[in-house]
Amino acid sequence: MLRRCLVLGLLCLSTPLAVCQTNPSKATVLKAGRLLDVRTGGYLFGQAVLIEEGKIKELGSTTQVQAHAPRDATVIDLREATLLPGLIDPHAHLLVAVKPEGQPLLSAVAGMSATRRALLGARLAREDLEAGFTTARIVGHSGIDGDAALRDAINDGWVPGPRILASCRKLTPPGGQALSLNPAVAQQVLEQEFLEVGSANEARKAVRQDIYYGADFIKVVADADGRFITPDEMKAIVEEAHRSNIKVTVHATTTTGIQTAIDARVDSIEHGDDVTDEQLKSMHEAGIFLDVTEAFFGGRLRALSGKSTVLSPEDEQLLDGYEKEEAQKGPARLQRILRFGVKYAAGSDMWFDYPGKTRGQATAIMFGALHDLGMQPIDVLRATTSAAAEMIGWQDRVGAIEPGKFADIIATSGDPLQDITELERVRFVMKNGIVVRNDWHAK
Ligand SMILES: [Zn+2]
Repeated sequence: MLRRCLVLGLLCLSTPLAVCQTNPSKATVLKAGRLLDVRTGGYLFGQAVLIEEGKIKELGSTTQVQAHAPRDATVIDLREATLLPGLIDPHAHLLVAVKPEGQPLLSAVAGMSATRRALLGARLAREDLEAGFTTARIVGHSGIDGDAALRDAINDGWVPGPRILASCRKLTPPGGQALSLNPAVAQQVLEQEFLEVGSANEARKAVRQDIYYGADFIKVVADADGRFITPDEMKAIVEEAHRSNIKVTVHATTTTGIQTAIDARVDSIEHGDDVTDEQLKSMHEAGIFLDVTEAFFGGRLRALSGKSTVLSPEDEQLLDGYEKEEAQKGPARLQRILRFGVKYAAGSDMWFDYPGKTRGQATAIMFGALHDLGMQPIDVLRATTSAAAEMIGWQDRVGAIEPGKFADIIATSGDPLQDITELERVRFVMKNGIVVRNDWHAK
């Protein structure tokens, strides 16, 4: 049913824009059943959206918009649907897909050529887009420049996918992150995935290297198995990145790692597991975003691993411990984030080859997880649209259905403010004014 539309969408996206649309300035009118205003948190009814040259030109009553639309505008009837801004995943890993049955991340990467990995990236990007993710910030595990290349290929119309922000290699303490490799070959794998930082000078150089390879922002790992980026190194990273006008986001799970990030005035912190009240206060004051990554909350990691494998008693125990701790700490942490008024967004951190799901479908499990964590549906939506846009510095172009923004729009048939898992069943996707998917039309 949706195949035809998808195929058309893909053909369309894989062709340069000018060829795809015979008249590039041809307008589209989307007639909405209801449309979510993410700012107020309420629905607008009887609205239509006028789209020209990939951007939202006007939003208003259907009569008004139709009166302003060119005569030859394409009209898409979504009066049965709920229109929402395209989704943003600010913590994506689109160039890695690890089998859930305990395969170490880096051995998955070590067994793959850069060429094969690029093709994997093309597949995962398409799957993400089809599920409604029109923007993805890739925060590492892309090889030297896989995410930048994927971004450029998508922008050039070679392959379909979300708008991408690339970080290229993560900056890590010497030794990288999550390493359990044969030392005889470890160094080469390490250099493919990370830029090791052992001094402030190396930190500056690493930032410049990432920028050279096409990074849109810098991703730092503040803490890795008891090894840390030092305060001096973190300050050098932030100074160098901000000099080039790009943001710094930091993986930090420990109190020490989080403090180093806050003191250096990074732009955002990923995960933040052991964040203290004092640190949340400082983050609020400094306007540092917390990127909440809780896609596996509520037994979702067990559901994933249980699909394809029987765990060893040791792993079973480990998973038990993780779930018990998270069941308690996760919701409490969220309540503290809200209490201190810290700005937050939410990302998936999905890097598994999830059995039976596309990458986009797997990424979408985060919506139910965030709700189970205690986030209200409107806040889940903001964390993955308007707030995520602000965190990544793209609030002027994505994250809301507003005039002047890119026409990145999705639709569901039900009401996501009543049932957030409607976002797992996105039925219409438009990116840059081009329809990627329309299940209604395909009926
Ligand atoms: Zn991650």
